[in-house]
Amino acid sequence: MLEVDGSAGEGGGQVLRTCLTLSVALGRPFRITGIRAGRPRPGLQPQHLAAVRAAAAVGAAHVEGDRLGSSWLLFEPGGHVPGEHRFEIGSAGSACLVAQTVLPALARGSAPSRIRVTGGTHNRAAPPYEFLAQTFLPLVSRLGPRVTSRLERHGFEPAGGGAITVDVQPAAALGGLDLGERGRITRRRARAVVAGLSEAVAERELAVVAARLGWTDEELTIETVEADCPGNVLLLEIGSAAVTEVVTGFGRRSKPAEAVARDAVVLAQRYLDAEVPVGGHLADQLLVPLALADGGRFVCPPPTAHFVTNLDVVRRFLDVEVSLVALASQRVRVEVRRRQGSWG
Ligand code: ATP
Repeated sequence: MLEVDGSAGEGGGQVLRTCLTLSVALGRPFRITGIRAGRPRPGLQPQHLAAVRAAAAVGAAHVEGDRLGSSWLLFEPGGHVPGEHRFEIGSAGSACLVAQTVLPALARGSAPSRIRVTGGTHNRAAPPYEFLAQTFLPLVSRLGPRVTSRLERHGFEPAGGGAITVDVQPAAALGGLDLGERGRITRRRARAVVAGLSEAVAERELAVVAARLGWTDEELTIETVEADCPGNVLLLEIGSAAVTEVVTGFGRRSKPAEAVARDAVVLAQRYLDAEVPVGGHLADQLLVPLALADGGRFVCPPPTAHFVTNLDVVRRFLDVEVSLVALASQRVRVEVRRRQGSWG
């Protein structure tokens, strides 16, 4: 039985989710203690519990310790269950993170799957739906499976109530990926999304984008959407031949629209200046699919604490060689290689 210390490294929810993903994909049981010990409210919160339930359903697993607040979990997968699955988080916890947890197991095999997750779709400190749909899933599709998604309803904090659907046409095996060069920027779009708020909020955000990044009127759009509570998000999409990066400004009560936009603009400018194809968030999220695939390489900014923590968990489950080579002060080449044959 693999024993994992959930408090290691960053000590956040990703340690648990990566364990669940790899356990189901590889059929390897694990026990984790100290779940999210590094966070202010440690233990299993609704999003993490939903990820456990999702992984248990897809992996036909025997589970112990799966209750709110639990600091430990025993997880013994018993197979792969493709097909239709519905997962409810029951809070505004991130539906995208729950979907990412089970995707690798469903991406390989012969039967298609459809998963529907209800909860939050635009959460601070999690990938917003557009990042999942435009940044992450197209790269998973490049590994072989065909993965598409739909945003059915926006879910903002604190009400949640959003829904996403992900369709997976699996591949027999996962290939490799090479994201060494970003190339020319071919597409830019700023989307200011508001639910239950004045469009003036979106206009003020887009004015900052136009002034600071010089994006043109055709590249700026306002979207007014329905949701269970007011919400606002500014999404800056930057497309190149290699990848579409989505950087996000999350609106919240008492934070001026201009400040939301300035935060997003700083992140976009940093991405553009670094001339990397893979941004910091995508880098930590690519580790798991690449470790399960034939490997791959990408160029990204220097590793975050999140990246390092996730890599440590990957190394507990898989015999992978991961090399990091600094190319310049803000550019690092990451290479992921399996030491033995393909998984499964
Ligand atoms: P907690 O820290 O409370 O345990 P958590 O369970 O949500 O929270 P984390 O360990 O913080 O988990 O993982 C969050 C994940 O969301 C990481 O993969 C990170 O790269 C990703 N992420 C965070 N913000 C963004 C963003 N703006 N765009 C894309 N991905 C993001």
